[in-house]
Amino acid sequence: MVAARPSEAADGTVQQVDVAVVGAGFAGLYLLHRLRKAGLSAVGLEEAGDVGGTWYWNRYPGARCDIQTIDYGYTFDPELDKAWTWSEKYATQPEILRYLGFVADRYDLRRDIRFGTKVTAAKWDEKAERWQLTTNNGAAVSCRFYIMATGCLSAPKPPEIDGVRDFRGEVYFTGRWPHDGVNLAGKRVAVIGTGSSGIQSIPVIAEQAAHLTVFQRTPNFALPAHNGPSPADRRDLFQSDRAAYRAQARQSMSGVPYPQQTVVSWQLSDAERRERFERAWAAGDLVHILTQLWADQAVDVDGNKIVQDLIREKIRAAVRDPETAAALMPDDHPFGAKRPCLETNYYATYNRPNVTLVNLRQEPIKAITAGGITTAKRNVDVDVIVFATGFDAMTGAIRAVHPITGRDGKSLTDVWAQGPQSYLGLTVAGFPNFFMITGPGSPSVLSNMAVSIEQHVDWVVDRLKALHEAGFTTIEPTETAQAGWNRHMADCSMLTLHRLANTWYTGANVPGKVQGLMPYTGGVGPYRSICDEVVSRGMLGFRLT
Ligand code: FAD
Repeated sequence: MVAARPSEAADGTVQQVDVAVVGAGFAGLYLLHRLRKAGLSAVGLEEAGDVGGTWYWNRYPGARCDIQTIDYGYTFDPELDKAWTWSEKYATQPEILRYLGFVADRYDLRRDIRFGTKVTAAKWDEKAERWQLTTNNGAAVSCRFYIMATGCLSAPKPPEIDGVRDFRGEVYFTGRWPHDGVNLAGKRVAVIGTGSSGIQSIPVIAEQAAHLTVFQRTPNFALPAHNGPSPADRRDLFQSDRAAYRAQARQSMSGVPYPQQTVVSWQLSDAERRERFERAWAAGDLVHILTQLWADQAVDVDGNKIVQDLIREKIRAAVRDPETAAALMPDDHPFGAKRPCLETNYYATYNRPNVTLVNLRQEPIKAITAGGITTAKRNVDVDVIVFATGFDAMTGAIRAVHPITGRDGKSLTDVWAQGPQSYLGLTVAGFPNFFMITGPGSPSVLSNMAVSIEQHVDWVVDRLKALHEAGFTTIEPTETAQAGWNRHMADCSMLTLHRLANTWYTGANVPGKVQGLMPYTGGVGPYRSICDEVVSRGMLGFRLT
């Protein structure tokens, strides 16, 4: 191994490193830190102009995390944990970006990152046993190990509507919001999309715009964030024993330290269920409401329907116009089978005189014109269109590196033609020394990602060290192990209500994308145990050479 800093390659030459890390978000930063400590030379390759990933790109008004910030951060260094205090229960995008910049400074990570550099293709060189990466800027990279820390929600979905280019006004994407902000004062604004980014930005945009028209295809369940200072009960629990708190998060189902519920809905009276629900509603915490009501809510249609009805009741009470309220009530998926959202004044925003909801189920968009948006029933003239239309989730950024060519000239696009195949969501058969952080087949977006990212990074770097110490140069999963993992993934998903929803978890939001549940539904703690067991059983399912 090359132990030391990557060679400073001039343009046109090839940069030689042990490990290439693509992406400088939560995952890429921690990888660089761990690799350096492990004595491996590494380079970070990042399309953006600085660190931050999700929090670099998503600067739209109202952008925040929706896992409490006390839980949404690195835990690998107790000193770092102590050195940073969040100002709110749910931090804003600028604060999270500052945190990631603080981490990059603290561990001096930027010196190993090439910003403004997009990886465009990758090829396994069988003879040299190295990956060759092509970039759009500067030297190509030759590395023994190629790690994609490219993010699950980093490839914005292009608009599917005719005429976007004809529109003469301003067009913005929540996932690529301008760094200098956008002045919406006095303007007629359209927001297309009511997923997480739409639900966060709509109330803020409504306060600025002369008029806001929201175009909604599918309503989402949204719960009040009740943002403010970090809640005393969680803070006290954390302060009383930080190590135990973090350890419990790592073993939990979702990456947030809540106990497993055992009581099922039918064991509770109506009054007891309502009492639990009201407590969860008041807590303003997605993970609480998703895991703490009753044990059958995520696995049984009847147990879930009770939660749905209670939330629909809240929406009815919050929105004055009954037709608008009805349009905002989700009725096509179980609660939790599509990622629910956290909201601040979202439903109340529809009571404002300057806000209109257009229900695209009743009047689909026909075209975008020079002056606005035409639906099947009306023309809406606007000055600004904001696309809050989400991401090509989980596989979008990986597949955008094209081709990724593995052993025997096989391309990842071909191997994934019927949907992503992986072993543990970390590796792919036929692609030696290739790793994905929070890839399809791992808990990823069904978890607190900070916890899942740390687990993946630790697992991968520990393996690279062990591999080197044992004198191996390549690692690759067997086809059998991969097939077994995919079978296990499918079995787990059949036990949850995810099987009943077409969502971005299944690829349903991207036209032409192969359908199938991409994240692992077995839970964060059980998944960690499986990864550890693979190691303790002599790298079960991997071929080492
Ligand atoms: P990212 O942060 O997405 O970083 C990936 C980086 O890779 C990007 O900077 C991208 O530019 C770069 N990249 C991709 N392809 C290439 C390429 N070919 N060449 C070079 N660079 C490339 N998760 C939670 O757990 N809790 C939350 O509250 C939460 N809130 C979220 C809010 C929003 C608005 C969004 C979009 C996501 C949220 N997430 C949340 C998920 C979030 O993506 C993760 O928590 C985490 O930030 C992911 O970190 P990452 O490093 O894996 O990926």
